[in-house]
Amino acid sequence: MACSIEDKYGREITNLRFSLTQTCNLNCIYCHNEGENGDECNLITQEEVIEAVKLGTRYGIKKVKLSGGEPLLRPDLTEIIQKISPHLNDVSLTTNAILLPQKIDELCEAGLDRVNISLDTLNPETYRELTGGDLKKALKGIEAAEQSKLFPVKINTVILDNINTNEIQDFINYAKNNDIILQLIEYHDTNTLKNQKNYSQYHYNLDPIEKTLTKKADKIKTRKMHHRKKYYIKNAEIEVVRPMHNTEFCENCTRLRVTSCGEFKPCLMREDNHVPFNGNMEKSLLKAINQRKPYF
Ligand code: SAM
Repeated sequence: MACSIEDKYGREITNLRFSLTQTCNLNCIYCHNEGENGDECNLITQEEVIEAVKLGTRYGIKKVKLSGGEPLLRPDLTEIIQKISPHLNDVSLTTNAILLPQKIDELCEAGLDRVNISLDTLNPETYRELTGGDLKKALKGIEAAEQSKLFPVKINTVILDNINTNEIQDFINYAKNNDIILQLIEYHDTNTLKNQKNYSQYHYNLDPIEKTLTKKADKIKTRKMHHRKKYYIKNAEIEVVRPMHNTEFCENCTRLRVTSCGEFKPCLMREDNHVPFNGNMEKSLLKAINQRKPYF
């Protein structure tokens, strides 16, 4: 029978976030690679993913997010979703959506509930500079998500100083017109960033954005997860993700991560406390939960 589990700081663990691969078809200048440093390792197997999910559900895990790298590059993604979804309330994917149009039908059929799609600009040239990819393809992916049964569709937008700070209102309009939830994400500083210089150059303090959202909002809610603020402006929903130096964010973190190397990862920001599966997955899970500690 399922029970719930808390870490030493009274934080219940309800979500698992998997990195299914370190390979990506884009090359985003700000990418933290889900806190992995790119060292070579044996890729987590489908069986390990399923075992970790089943085990997690015995300890109260209800939601799973699949990320990477680009999770759509994982050839057995559909099979993984098919096998884990019956055990969970919510299976979602974080993706750049480039390959979504050709995969979406089988993913929906397998039991995928929803997607978060990364989109940091609506300008094709800026998109090319930031990611190396083609904006048109990402927008086609978003369109495919919208026309599918996946709901809600969310967009993840990392705010980068002097790159996309002038596009916030365009994003709000885009989200409103397309019935999409917009997540404005603070640029995180992890020690797995591709380029630390980019962080100091592009990190933007989200205070002015939140001030404007507060003024315009018809309603503001606080989500349980990370105590993220959600602003409702006419028909738009805008969530703000601000982890940096934010103790409230860490106090309300209900997430445990799993790396593409088959390790539990207690915190995005730390690489020194990963717990490899090592044969006894239950023991590793409990050790990882025991090692969870608010970073800020
Ligand atoms: N390839 C997929 C994608 O593009 O969504 C999944 C991997 S990506 C690492 C997962 C999410 O992390 C994306 O929404 C991305 O915008 C976000 N992300 C990556 N690096 C970040 C950083 N340094 N700060 C904040 N968010 C970041």
